[in-house]
Amino acid sequence: MIVVKIDEKLQEIKEEVINCKKCPLYKERIKDKCYPVIGQGNHQAKIFFIGEAPGAREAQTGHPFCGTSGKILDELLESAGIKREDVYITNILKCRPSNNRNPKAEEISACVPYLDKQIELINPKIICTLGNFSTAFILEKYGLKDEIKGISKIHGKIFEAKSSSGKKKVIPFYHPAVAAYNANMKDGLKEDFQILKDFK
Ligand code: URA
Ligand code: SF4
Repeated sequence: MIVVKIDEKLQEIKEEVINCKKCPLYKERIKDKCYPVIGQGNHQAKIFFIGEAPGAREAQTGHPFCGTSGKILDELLESAGIKREDVYITNILKCRPSNNRNPKAEEISACVPYLDKQIELINPKIICTLGNFSTAFILEKYGLKDEIKGISKIHGKIFEAKSSSGKKKVIPFYHPAVAAYNANMKDGLKEDFQILKDFK
């Protein structure tokens, strides 16, 4: 698809999300005067990151991974020599669940059509899932349900996926938040991120 069309279609998704009432999370967002977080980055990205849901800072600004987890993600990207502006970053849920609780199954199923469209438009070669929720969703999406295990078992592994628009690699990682207070986890995440050097 030509670039202008991709930009236009991503803009359409943004407008849909802003007006979305498909799950109850929009109500709190409006009450709290917060933003949905649609996604950010390069519309031709080869590498596409999927987190869980916006945190407090993200919901205040509308930008993904701009708080504590975002600082860690920036560090991880830098350690692999990847520029944030070259990748695309979004989440499973576009609106913030209060107190950063886990996403509910019905919220995920209501929201993922937006993510599906973002993946279809950007058509990345590498999908990096951050944490259990995005990992399970993506492995199931690409017919790899049998591979779904806790993130501690499958982090840093490369899964080959087939989609109608060609082959993709799915690489699960721990969610950066796990490294916020744990230097060992950060070192482990950094080690895993080095795989991405082969795919820049
Ligand atoms: N955690 C996420 O999963 N996504 C964000 O955008 C921020 C924190
Ligand atoms: Fe819509 Fe997703 Fe927000 Fe729920 S979380 S209201 S499905 S955009």
